[in-house]
Amino acid sequence: MKKILALNLKMNFNYQEVIDYVQELKGELKNKNVILFPPTIFLPYFIGNEYPFGAQNISEFDNGAHTGEISCTQLKSIGGTYTIIGHSERRKDQHEEDGTLNLRIKKALENGLKVVYCIGETKEERDMLKTTKILKSEIVNGLAGIKPTDLKNVIIAYEPIWSIGTGVIPTNKEIASTTAFIIDTAVNILNYKPRVLYGGSVNEKNIAELNKIANVSGFLVGGASLDVKKVLKMKETIER
Ligand code: PEP
Repeated sequence: MKKILALNLKMNFNYQEVIDYVQELKGELKNKNVILFPPTIFLPYFIGNEYPFGAQNISEFDNGAHTGEISCTQLKSIGGTYTIIGHSERRKDQHEEDGTLNLRIKKALENGLKVVYCIGETKEERDMLKTTKILKSEIVNGLAGIKPTDLKNVIIAYEPIWSIGTGVIPTNKEIASTTAFIIDTAVNILNYKPRVLYGGSVNEKNIAELNKIANVSGFLVGGASLDVKKVLKMKETIER
């Protein structure tokens, strides 16, 4: 299976920068393994390109009076096929919890969207040796009540929060053992074997080394996704 490169552009870029970014990517991402997650306001600029794209978050409601939210049907109406759910920045800034995230995942899957579900521990949780406890509860609560046949459309992104945007990355051995724990937990409790992405300070320089980890099916990238040259270098490395 092709390795995935999921690019989270977060709340970056203005109008002209998005136009330039899309233009620079044109014709470069034919393998469909690079998925773009632009800021909501710029989603329409990603219509009609050769690569899949999606939203950085999605509502658990169908439509109506939910100011500031976007629905699955709205995303689908412009050709979006993916959504990130449970990014640590949203868990922290918007106080999103596993119960709400579970409803969003269910709504997205009902609508035929593919989900990148983010899980990960804080530095304090890691220091207190609580990483596996946290990951297990995020897996069990976030994915509760979803059939294994639907779970095949959920990709898990393991993102240690202390590694996001910091340049500090776990060792390959640590990532291998944590991702093995995530896969075993999902197999044993939910009867599904997820693809697991690693996210946290991945860039065009360190991706070759990280790409050696057998359990890792690809990467979720923030900062380095803002530069098309870095994106193309990362894409080329994982496709080798
Ligand atoms: C992220 O926020 O999902 C992320 C991985 O960010 P960065 O690559 O900048 O650490």
